[in-house]
Amino acid sequence: VSANGRPLAARALVLDRHGAEPSLADVIVDPPGPGEVRVRMLAAGVCHTDLAATRDARTVPIVLGHEGMGVVECVGAGVDGVRAGTRVLLAWKTPCGSCRRCAQQRSHLCESPQGTAAPRVHRDGIALAVLLDTGCLCTFAVVPSNAVVPVPDELGDAEAALVGCAVATGVGAALRTASVEAGDVVGVWGAGGVGSAVVAGARLALADAIVAVEIDRARRADALAWGATAACHPDEAAAVIAEVTRGRGLDVAFEVVGEPGLMAAAVDALGVGGTLVLVGAAARDAELAFAPRRFMSRQQRIVGCIYGSVRPRVDLPVLLDLCAAGAIPVGDLIGREVSFEELPAALGRPHGGIRTVVRFP
Ligand SMILES: [Zn+2]
Ligand SMILES: [Zn+2]
Repeated sequence: VSANGRPLAARALVLDRHGAEPSLADVIVDPPGPGEVRVRMLAAGVCHTDLAATRDARTVPIVLGHEGMGVVECVGAGVDGVRAGTRVLLAWKTPCGSCRRCAQQRSHLCESPQGTAAPRVHRDGIALAVLLDTGCLCTFAVVPSNAVVPVPDELGDAEAALVGCAVATGVGAALRTASVEAGDVVGVWGAGGVGSAVVAGARLALADAIVAVEIDRARRADALAWGATAACHPDEAAAVIAEVTRGRGLDVAFEVVGEPGLMAAAVDALGVGGTLVLVGAAARDAELAFAPRRFMSRQQRIVGCIYGSVRPRVDLPVLLDLCAAGAIPVGDLIGREVSFEELPAALGRPHGGIRTVVRFP
């Protein structure tokens, strides 16, 4: 631990230009500004969004990473709710607390989510952007103090890290975005990290049946372990859902892959009053066609979902507690663990599990 207020030498996973392989770079991380904290990272997950950034990041060069946890190393002026030495989870979307949406208690629609007041990571004197105001694939990250939530002692580092995106997004999509109700019949297209968490969320909401639709056989088995009541290949989904719902269709469908073909299948599988939640990020130029007349007369909805519509300071502590208590089997998402120095080579190497988790030195 260094003295407060000093710039620190650090290592970061940096994407230099679109289409390039991300690589580790020596960087300087500034001390936190007023209302900010600097976190020494302990563990971080590699989310699909980090990989997608290599083609569609809004700006480069950029420090990747947005799903992680660590220890508060020092705090900026005016921070009194967080202390150095506390294990914390990072939220990647931090509401401002003062805009019209935040005042309406709809902070998931915040008009000005918070990052640091100025860039805090530099390389060779040049400021680097950080992905999703986080950039936690770096040995140190500076974030607003509102972006950190204490982690219960019983929850391991790698498990806690995955609450920051996969669990928050998936469980939030079920409980917050869609408000799945007891007795609902739910379909989930895609059973990766986020899709598994959607299944867990639907189960927590006492959904009556949960159909996981997934191309990969091993992931179908995982979905059953997470609480899905049926799991099938996309080609079989229509028939399985017709059987499970006795022809009524789904109350809530989640598309977690970002494929318009799957979204269209999910619209077709909706029942009267059904809602499709778009969780997966489609390509920026993708389009979805569906029959609006049927959709209108069946009183259906399609809703977009960012970060599970969670309110980080309210919902993340609850999700961390549910994971610590074993109600959400977050450890099952960990497909492999790698050291930070191993990460660039590991990114291009497939593995059998769901998430790659980085352990920092
Ligand atoms: Zn993510
Ligand atoms: Zn706001």
